[in-house]
Amino acid sequence: MQIPRYLLEGHKAYLKETQPKVQQRQEELLKKGQSPEVLWIGCSDSRVMPETIVNSKPGDLFVVRNVGNMVHSYESGTNSVGAAIEFAVGSLGISHIIVCGHEDCGAMKAIQAGGVDANKTPSLANWIRTTIKDLGPTFTVASDLTELTKRNILLQIERLKHYPLISEALAENKISLHGWYINIKNGYLEGYDPKKQSWGRLVDC
Ligand SMILES: [Zn+2]
Repeated sequence: MQIPRYLLEGHKAYLKETQPKVQQRQEELLKKGQSPEVLWIGCSDSRVMPETIVNSKPGDLFVVRNVGNMVHSYESGTNSVGAAIEFAVGSLGISHIIVCGHEDCGAMKAIQAGGVDANKTPSLANWIRTTIKDLGPTFTVASDLTELTKRNILLQIERLKHYPLISEALAENKISLHGWYINIKNGYLEGYDPKKQSWGRLVDC
């Protein structure tokens, strides 16, 4: 099967239009190494583009993407998200973690439906199982999709707090955790305000 043509055309456009703009910064980052301030934990959904949403430059975001922007518990053993968290917090010294969920998330729809076929998609079934359990029946079956997605973001933030490196950094006021939600239709990001216990647009324009 042929590689889709638009990818190669897109790469040509990148080399022509974008690479010249980022080349100097990339060269500097190659010399001194990366030191991003932000770890972004987002969904793999193709409609959500972290670097584009916040117009970030090379070196700004350390990104982890998976189905449903999930963080599994510290105890869950071999865990790519856990490895990324430990590298980002322990080695890179990032000072912000953003968990970003989104409108119309397929993982949240699967949770709403009570799970997926464990015979056909065993890894996926296993991946979302603990989240279904931890969200509990109130926020799973028959709940509003936006509400469920936002609850899921807050659950992942709670899980982050159990990672020793994060709890230590929180105690020393060296890190902040943020829950964000992206509206795909209009592009607006919403953030969770723990003091007000509510969501609101991060910026208005
Ligand atoms: Zn998603």
